[in-house]
Amino acid sequence: MLKVEHITKYYDQNKAVDDLSFEVPDGKIFGLLGVNGAGKTTTFRMIIGLLEPTSGKVTLNGRPIDYDVTDTIGFLTEERSLLTKLTVKEQIVFYGTLKGMKEKDILKKLDYWLERFKITEYKERKIKELSKGNQQKVQFISAVINDPKLLILDEPFSGLDPINVEMFMEAIRDFKKKGSSIIFSSHRMEHVEMFCESLVILVKGKSVLEGELKQIKKDYRKKNIHIKGDVIAKDFEKIAGVVKVVSNADEIIVKIESDEIISRVFEVVKKCKDITEFSVEDPTLNEIFLSKVGETYEK
Ligand code: ATP
Repeated sequence: MLKVEHITKYYDQNKAVDDLSFEVPDGKIFGLLGVNGAGKTTTFRMIIGLLEPTSGKVTLNGRPIDYDVTDTIGFLTEERSLLTKLTVKEQIVFYGTLKGMKEKDILKKLDYWLERFKITEYKERKIKELSKGNQQKVQFISAVINDPKLLILDEPFSGLDPINVEMFMEAIRDFKKKGSSIIFSSHRMEHVEMFCESLVILVKGKSVLEGELKQIKKDYRKKNIHIKGDVIAKDFEKIAGVVKVVSNADEIIVKIESDEIISRVFEVVKKCKDITEFSVEDPTLNEIFLSKVGETYEK
């Protein structure tokens, strides 16, 4: 279990992270969300000991994260730090050796990952000759070559096409199944929504929302009703408790304050013709994120 307790980081006068606390149990995927400059990378650097917090502490299974435990950690940095003149094999052997692994074991794992990511033919090629997506795969392999117990991924999906995003997600889910704690950052809410159980949203270094994704959605209370058919948006705008009505090409979305409003909307729909859909859905994480980040910026 990773435990982050009240960490704060100042760069001179600038408070980059402000009294942040969270826990990532074994076998859980945790999302660290925030706009540019929110403090995600600074938080990661403090977790792996590259930066000393101004105050607060970080522990992994009750122990401080120092040289002794770094062999059990994998870190994918945001600024992709490959040694581009090396071949894929040389690069991974280099990283694996730094993690205290034997070359024989590194090469076995490397073959597994190259095959899984369908880039076996690049094993002896220089990294600079690879496409960006394939370089990212190599970077990912270097982060997981030691089968880390704690896997930290700073923007792991940025720049990847949907097929490769899915490939990475599958690999990350496998680490979860094996009991690793995984923490990753992203601006892309749909990625977070797809596979992370709990999260924290940072705004200017401070947590504005945290907890289990399911509970966050429940507490938010607002819902979206999707309606397809012969309907007029204005009829719904008049209903008390309707926050907004969005007209899309083939449906309207009625955004409501809470569950109690559903029946009022349904009463109006009953009078409409040719209804082919009436579905009540949770808000997306993106909506919650925008509302929380917006609220804080306005303060
Ligand atoms: P992004 O999504 O853009 O990568 P982030 O959420 O990772 O952003 P950080 O890089 O942690 O955010 O930056 C948090 C704050 O700390 C910003 O105001 C940034 O300007 C500042 N900062 C980051 N690194 C340094 C540094 N080495 N020296 C001084 N200030 C820094």
